[in-house]
Amino acid sequence: MKTFYAEEQKHHNPKGFLSSGAPQPNPEKPERVERLLAGARAAGSSIHRPRNHGLAPIAAVHTPEYIEFLENIYRRWQLIPGASQEVIPNIHPINRSGSYPASAVGQAGYHMADTSCPISAETWESACWSAWTAVEAAESVMQGEPAAYALCRPPGHHAFADVAGGFCFINNSAVAAQRLRMGADRVAILDVDLHHGNGTQGVFYKRADVLTVSIHADPVRFYPFFWGYADERGEGAGLGYNYNLPLQRKSGDDVFLEALQSACKRIEAFAPQALVVALGLDAFEGDPFGGLLVSTAGFGRIAEAIASLHLPTVIVQEGGYLCDELGDNLTAFLTGFGSAA
Ligand SMILES: [Zn+2]
Repeated sequence: MKTFYAEEQKHHNPKGFLSSGAPQPNPEKPERVERLLAGARAAGSSIHRPRNHGLAPIAAVHTPEYIEFLENIYRRWQLIPGASQEVIPNIHPINRSGSYPASAVGQAGYHMADTSCPISAETWESACWSAWTAVEAAESVMQGEPAAYALCRPPGHHAFADVAGGFCFINNSAVAAQRLRMGADRVAILDVDLHHGNGTQGVFYKRADVLTVSIHADPVRFYPFFWGYADERGEGAGLGYNYNLPLQRKSGDDVFLEALQSACKRIEAFAPQALVVALGLDAFEGDPFGGLLVSTAGFGRIAEAIASLHLPTVIVQEGGYLCDELGDNLTAFLTGFGSAA
């Protein structure tokens, strides 16, 4: 299986975020890329650079005002006397259907869900290349590759059509799914990241052509708190096309694989022509977030179960943070996928 990745994705280097109100180093570090590249190589994957695909595939998922915000907010922020180095919001609208402010501070609050997605001079460039990596992987699958791995960084699944959040700016999995839709009537997205894929759910919530399925730690006591419950099933034409499988904290391989069976059943019933796997590796038992207890071998079993759907598959990297086994977990997933495909 080919891996897609561009060096520019490493330039984004967020300094901090708030955890339970306390300033902490941001865990979404560029070093993640080195570990993941090593993991992909160990699985026998070759690394390929994506092309610049322009704004069209990003604009197919995100609003014009949000794209303009992401592209320009760092420069605008520097004009504010006494402002922080990185763009970090400090006020949010209770009602998002109200007015749209002209102020950079107001727009930061409007377009950023939390403090964990600071924007620096390099963020927009890295986020675009991350999205183009997803597009390139989608195109290679559309041209007949059975599967491709997009080493996307920064990640994407917490980004809504017009809101960043949780280390995410452009929703790479949604961009890949939308690109696949150009050659497929129905596309499914299966999100196995530790955290609920709230942005992806939000993008497709009212649509029946893209099924969104997410397995994650129960948000009742875990980020993103306000989304990811089992009763969120879609809306309007999309009713029944969103499927959430929240798991109790500290669940291990067997519980995860049981939920995955239900997820695969739902995907088979939908009969998509292509699949996007939003691959977070932070459900790992040794991940710093410590929400679930999936083992390294468990990622291999998860991959085998997904591969047995026998769908053209784009694997998009989401979370998974620095720990000794980060690369091994990717190797286990890609190897497991290849052995069962
Ligand atoms: Zn995550």
